Amino acid sequence: RSKTTAPAAVHRPLPRGELSQRRHCPQIKATTAEILLYETMDWASSIDAFFKNFKRESQILSEENIILIKSYTETNRLQKALSVIHNALRDIENAPLNIAVTGETGTGKSTFINALRGLGQEDVGAAPTGVTETTWERIPYLHPKLPQVTLWDLPGIGSTSFPPENYLTEMKFGQYDFFIIISATRFKENDAQLAKAITKMNMNFYFVQTKIDIDIDNEQKSKPKTFNKENVLTKIQGDCSRHLQQTLSSEPRIFLVSSFDVSDFDFPELQNTLLRELPAHKRHVFMLSLSSVTEEIINLKRDSLKQKVFLEALKVGVLAAIPLGGMIMNDIENLDETFNLYKSYFGLDDASLKNIAKKFNTPVNTLKARLRFPHLFTQKNDESLEDKLRKYIHHISSVTGGPVAAGIYFKKSYYLQNLFIDAAANDAIALLNMKDLFENKEEPYISQPPDYWE
Ligand code: GDP
Repeated sequence: RSKTTAPAAVHRPLPRGELSQRRHCPQIKATTAEILLYETMDWASSIDAFFKNFKRESQILSEENIILIKSYTETNRLQKALSVIHNALRDIENAPLNIAVTGETGTGKSTFINALRGLGQEDVGAAPTGVTETTWERIPYLHPKLPQVTLWDLPGIGSTSFPPENYLTEMKFGQYDFFIIISATRFKENDAQLAKAITKMNMNFYFVQTKIDIDIDNEQKSKPKTFNKENVLTKIQGDCSRHLQQTLSSEPRIFLVSSFDVSDFDFPELQNTLLRELPAHKRHVFMLSLSSVTEEIINLKRDSLKQKVFLEALKVGVLAAIPLGGMIMNDIENLDETFNLYKSYFGLDDASLKNIAKKFNTPVNTLKARLRFPHLFTQKNDESLEDKLRKYIHHISSVTGGPVAAGIYFKKSYYLQNLFIDAAANDAIALLNMKDLFENKEEPYISQPPDYWE
């Protein structure tokens, strides 16, 4: 079942006859221009314009689906277009994602798996780290927030006596979306052979070298005068690459990471690369599974969620006019579950905020006072949610290709969800800059409001 579906009421496109009746309905107040646009129903260009706004890394609809939806809407076969949207959404919500992580014991595999799941080593459900026990079984770790995402801890090929092909068969290679091959100092010949076998099976792999922070530290201590971080990283990268190229025919991509600092080194680039190379329908769930550690990831999450909300709005019937004012608390109650999910996707749930507050030795309420998301419903020092909503709708209609401008009306819940996504994303970005958050004495907020609020 969809976690972020809009309320159950289904609004179907109005038959044209009904439109002229609506012109006289005082509640709707559509302008002549809007009615005109409505009648020409330029869906195709509106949908097209909407999806063009997003970077490839965040696109959750495949090119083929965009083309299909466009061509059906252009020829006014709306039912067909809706069925493509329906199926695409089903895939986006239910697509399982299985990531295989392989490497020898001690290379930092478990720590890396936890980092990718956004878990600290001491968190509940974290893969145990620092244990030397060797197992020949693969171990599944579910993502704490997204049950569709599983990371598989595979025994290193060196600890088994299998040749690469047999190793892959034994590890059920067909079940994974891609492989991550981990090493801590140097990739071994085995790893290169494994990569070669994975390519033969038409699957993707990525080389990750962990504990890069230790290499940097060591280098800095041993050569304090000539030390240059970038040079050290380039040299390590080059050494690894040359070594692997002896077995592989092409230049391998290698990511140097520290699982203790996922916003530094190549960890963010690794996340982006994985997102870019996944099939579109798998991107959404992988994106949400990433912890909000860089501004870029937060923005991609925001974009991905906005696309999903847009598709859902299209699916439940796009032509419902939006009577503003009144009933807003009711609308919010209907979306309560969705908003709680947004909180957790952006790390703004109570448990996450408590953790951050503890780390900075500050009461959680002081932290909350600096954010906007927790105060969206209160009018103190800020405009009411309804005013913000009105501004947002105005903003959307002024943006070229915005759904209102093209005559597509969404239910109020569509706009509310967008407002919440923006507020949550901006808070998450503010939390990345914790130092500013505490140093800036201005009250009450530090998190930026979305452009259209002020
Ligand atoms: P596994 O046996 O491959 O699962 O390795 P673990 O994840 O248990 O890590 C082995 C040891 O290396 C542990 O003491 C980890 O704390 C440490 N470790 C893992 N990754 C990193 C890293 O990126 N940087 C540093 N400094 N230590 C790491």
